[in-house]
Amino acid sequence: MILFKRSEDLINYLEKARKLGQTIGFVPTMGALHEGHISLVKRSTQGTHITVCSIFVNPTQFNDQKDFQQYPVSVEQDILLLEAGGANVLFLPSVDTIYPAGTANPMPYDLGKLETILEGQYRPGHFQGVCQVMHRLLELVNPHKLYMGAKDYQQCMVVKRLIEIIGSKTILHISPTLREQNGLAMSSRNRRLNPEEQQKAALISQTLIDIKEKLVPGKLHQLKQNAKIQLEQNQFKVDYVEIADANDLTIIDDWDGIRPLVVLIGCFIGDVRLIDNMQI
Ligand code: AMP
Repeated sequence: MILFKRSEDLINYLEKARKLGQTIGFVPTMGALHEGHISLVKRSTQGTHITVCSIFVNPTQFNDQKDFQQYPVSVEQDILLLEAGGANVLFLPSVDTIYPAGTANPMPYDLGKLETILEGQYRPGHFQGVCQVMHRLLELVNPHKLYMGAKDYQQCMVVKRLIEIIGSKTILHISPTLREQNGLAMSSRNRRLNPEEQQKAALISQTLIDIKEKLVPGKLHQLKQNAKIQLEQNQFKVDYVEIADANDLTIIDDWDGIRPLVVLIGCFIGDVRLIDNMQI
């Protein structure tokens, strides 16, 4: 695996590969890698000639500075995992490399209601930051295929929209969520949970399964409310338990039994914020 820190070196290397007819797959991450990230790398190695992974903890997508400062970092271990996973290139830029003109967002992206619901509601500015960094990374890497995880369901929709807005030819591939044995969705933030909290956090995915099993056509308010209460009774601080259209994230209060759905949860255990979702 080759490690690049400077964008010029990365661009030159990938330009040569492109001229040789090689296809490029890209897996953007914020590091503190786990098997979920590596599953994306493996998919990329199967679908393209060269797999580029980036590790960059993007300051502009953190609405909470404490969350940014406490974000886990483990680059040396990440490098070993990426090599074992088959990545060819690691891009490890500095903040100045990604934002040479500073971190202010020069062009707000029109994300419509995607920006104001669910994660957007509870993390103001978050998706603008995601678009800002993804726009820059897509320009630098210019991949044929982009691999992202369904774990961040709304983020996938936002990036799909970004790709349309900037007229990129990159094709987005969305991979399923990898889970721990107890059902907890793998996440870098899980490292901040103690063993007891990690066990407890399994209630998030159990709640998603519970909703999926109980879901019948008709009004959904009570189902969402009961799930929220169950989490709160177990000391979670719940931002949302929502059921939405799986295609466009329109919140559904009355289900016709036909529309494809996704159930989404955003909540805190202690001061660690976790998200998860399940498609119906
Ligand atoms: P992050 O480092 O958290 O920004 O995540 C980088 C990429 O890995 C994103 O596309 C995530 O959706 C994806 N990802 C994170 N956790 C998982 C997981 N448990 N399973 C599959 N993909 C994941």
